[in-house]
Amino acid sequence: MATRISAEDLCSLTPTTQLNMRPRVRPETICYLLAGTPKHASNFLRLKYCNDYSQVTRVADELVRMARKFDKEIADEDMYRLAVIAIDESLSDSMCGTCNGKSWVSTGMKRIICFKCRGTGRRSRGSKELSDQLGVELKYYIKYYKYLVERYMLGVLSNYEGQFHNAIKERL
Ligand SMILES: [Zn+2]
Repeated sequence: MATRISAEDLCSLTPTTQLNMRPRVRPETICYLLAGTPKHASNFLRLKYCNDYSQVTRVADELVRMARKFDKEIADEDMYRLAVIAIDESLSDSMCGTCNGKSWVSTGMKRIICFKCRGTGRRSRGSKELSDQLGVELKYYIKYYKYLVERYMLGVLSNYEGQFHNAIKERL
């Protein structure tokens, strides 16, 4: 008999937060949902939705491998740090401080899409914070790392997430 997804499972399909570190979805549900998801995506999703931190290395290794196509100059060690920063950013679910996660703000007359988070409701760290975390000058970050981290690596990770949402839709 096919596994059914309960309403409770669906409600709990939200990323974990610092306040809530327990796995929120039953592992068998995740396994079921990920059955048809490609391996690299499923490694990331296990990390994000099941707190399976043993996946960090695998996900980072894969990001480094893929990013190598674009950049052969950056040292392995640095490339790995970029990958970990990107993973960290994609796991964060801090709320946008301007709209408090609502994704809209009121101008008094009407509601507009939040200009700060562009309607995502999430606070993403800007280049300044990412370069600080890496311990490099902002200028250096923008010149050598920004594209790889913010466009390429985060793009790959959000594509993984998209595959997960497709898997859910197909099984509803
Ligand atoms: Zn916002």
